[in-house]
Amino acid sequence: MLMSQLYSPTLRETPSEAEIISHKLMLRAGLMRRSAAGMYAFLPLGLRVIRKVEQIIREEMNAIEGQEVLLPIVQPAELWEESGRWGDYGDEMFRLKDRQGRQFCLGPTHEEIITALVRSEVRSYRQLPLRLYQIQNKYRDEMRPRFGLMRGREFIMKDMYSFDRDDEALDQSYWAAYHAYERIFQRCGVEAHPVEADSGAIGGDVTHEFMVLADSGEDLVLFCPSCGYAANAERAEGVPPAKVGGAPAMKALTKVHTPQASTIEQISAFLGVNPEDCIKTLLYLADGKPVAALIRGDHNLNEIKLRKTLECETLELADDDTILATTGAPVGFAGPVGLSIPLYADYAIQNMADAVVGANEGDHHLIHANLDRDFAVTLFADLRETEPGDPCPRCVGTLEGARGIEVGQVFKLGTKYSRAMGATFLDESGAEKPVIMGCYGIGVGRTVAAVIEKNHDQDGIIWPLAIAPYQVIIVPVSMKDEAQAQAARKLYQELKAAGVEVVLDDRDERPGVKFKDADLIGFPLRVTIGSRSLEQGEMEIVLRRTKEKRNVPISQVLPDIETILKDGESSWV
Ligand SMILES: [Zn+2]
Repeated sequence: MLMSQLYSPTLRETPSEAEIISHKLMLRAGLMRRSAAGMYAFLPLGLRVIRKVEQIIREEMNAIEGQEVLLPIVQPAELWEESGRWGDYGDEMFRLKDRQGRQFCLGPTHEEIITALVRSEVRSYRQLPLRLYQIQNKYRDEMRPRFGLMRGREFIMKDMYSFDRDDEALDQSYWAAYHAYERIFQRCGVEAHPVEADSGAIGGDVTHEFMVLADSGEDLVLFCPSCGYAANAERAEGVPPAKVGGAPAMKALTKVHTPQASTIEQISAFLGVNPEDCIKTLLYLADGKPVAALIRGDHNLNEIKLRKTLECETLELADDDTILATTGAPVGFAGPVGLSIPLYADYAIQNMADAVVGANEGDHHLIHANLDRDFAVTLFADLRETEPGDPCPRCVGTLEGARGIEVGQVFKLGTKYSRAMGATFLDESGAEKPVIMGCYGIGVGRTVAAVIEKNHDQDGIIWPLAIAPYQVIIVPVSMKDEAQAQAARKLYQELKAAGVEVVLDDRDERPGVKFKDADLIGFPLRVTIGSRSLEQGEMEIVLRRTKEKRNVPISQVLPDIETILKDGESSWV
């Protein structure tokens, strides 16, 4: 490719829309342009990177007997009604109608479509296991699309679905995909850590997320340096604290006037106590019925854990009217004493004495509230957000925290979709059974963004060799110098003939401009051709990653490049 023809408009300034480095660099290097919030057009260099990542994914999916399919983006509402998710998905789903008024959506995910496809064709255990995957656009109408490809409304995803006869076979599919993912991210040149996670709207019990650790990550990952336990903070298990021995001195329950103090910060400041001496009472509607969750004042409730504890279908914070009707007080003054709805308390509440709680009366709190004497709890459970500094649930270590970018996730779905949608098979004895499913996703664009987050410097992107848009750029210092221009064109032809992906910067620009663009776009190798070295029969090879440079004889340029491309930059010593 000639740089003069390449459609890669680079930018000197960072567009104001970009907040994180990968987003800034993808715009500045001319890899993509925004067309609407959370939607991007890929330009030639960006698409080349995307296609390379897709090809690595494709090879690894094929290696575990995955078969590639292509499912429709536009999906009929009826299938989503069968699974029960047409209503559940809410505003995140792009919905549309055809000219007959029939409802459709732009697929946010493809469990329904693939289950419907398989149920009409798979009859016998002999057709299993089956692993089908696609690489395709997904659509989610995010509330806050941001960070470029990190959280888009249109994004490219690889999704594989496995269909197995029993749990043991699902286990094989799951771990095959898990290990394929490890290879994929390694080949893409980025370290992704598998962590225990929550399955969210997809469903299922066992799931791992693959996290690239980076400060710009939207997720908090907790990990134990002692035993290797790692989990998304929303999923990380809490350890019930040991019960403190010895009965505390119980003071008399006392109502105090606390005008305008409705948050933990306000009430603890007003009364001169610490947040950990207060109990937060949060009212929820679980399947429409009010329940209360009790959390220590300095802790945060984890709604995922509360939902699991309650085993409810829907869980939402109670509205102001419900709170008033249930507690007799406006928002901010609920407390466990005298409350006649089920009370679910985090384990930490067990060790509290003489606590500050809401009085179920406007502008009033109770001090010296004590468990058993003043209120009873329906169930103690692990309900709070686990945090860095908390004990490890697997060993005696202490959890540390790091930000993570989720680039992939693997799920054991079980029979959630096959039961709801009637995807069954006949086993050896002729008995009809639901197929056991798994699903496995990789965000292709997000992986590219994560690679940039981990591979850049102040001058631009540093592509790993395997996914660089082009491997080599040839930069003659001056195209007006006939000797340089001739040598550059000759090398360009030789490299192309050898199968090297190469760009020749044939523009009539100052060398500084050309070097800046080469560094910004991030070509792993640059060959600089200048008059002086040329007179000595040499060209200069520069490694983008280390900035290491060396003059090599012209005849040695191609063999050196081939060695580096084959064995990596570190082989060039
Ligand atoms: Zn541990």
